[in-house]
Amino acid sequence: MKMTIDMPFVSGCTVSECAYNINDSCRAHAITVGDGVHPGCDTFLGAPRHARNSKQSAGVGACKVTGCMHNEDYECVADSIRVGLTADTVNCLTYMGR
Ligand code: SF4
Repeated sequence: MKMTIDMPFVSGCTVSECAYNINDSCRAHAITVGDGVHPGCDTFLGAPRHARNSKQSAGVGACKVTGCMHNEDYECVADSIRVGLTADTVNCLTYMGR
C-alpha cells in the first residue's frame, strides 16, 4: 500500500556527501529535522550513494525544532525548505527563530 501525504517539499539540498543526495536534490521519501534545539537534518547519511536514481524529491515528515516560526506541534508548516551546510553541520536553511 502506498500513502500520499501532504508534506513540505525539500526544494533543494546541497549536501552531496549524503547518500540520499543526487544532483542537489534529496531523494529520500521524507526527512526528519532537528534534535529539539538545532535544525539539523536527522536523515543525513554519510554513506555511498543510494543505488536507485529515483526521481522523487523528499518531504519533511517531522521537525522537532519548536523554536522555529514554521513549526506547529512538532510539524513543519512551511511550503518548502532547503537543506545545506552551515559551518560543518547539515542544517535546515529555512529555519527562522521565533
Ligand atoms: S523550516 Fe523550521 S519547522 Fe520547517 S523543517 Fe526547517 S527548522 Fe523545522
